Amino acid sequence: MEAGFVTDQVDRATHGQSCWHPGAPEPKKARMLGIRLFESWVVEIDNAKLRPIILYRCPDCGFLEAYAP
Ligand SMILES: [Zn+2]
Repeated sequence: MEAGFVTDQVDRATHGQSCWHPGAPEPKKARMLGIRLFESWVVEIDNAKLRPIILYRCPDCGFLEAYAP
C-alpha cells in the first residue's frame, strides 16, 4: 500500500470527482514580494499524479470501499 491523501474541492459552487494524491500534503509555497499567495491549507498538487477515486457501496449496510486505480 502507498500512502497518500484525498484532494478537496475549494470551490463550493461546483463538484468534481475526488482524487487520491501520493505522499504527504505539503503547503503550497508560492510567494510574491514575501507575501504568501495561498491560504496555509492549500497544498501542492502534481496533476499528473492524481488518481480519480472510485467508491463501492454495500446496499445493505452502506459500507464504502475505495479504489484509486
Ligand atoms: Zn454491508
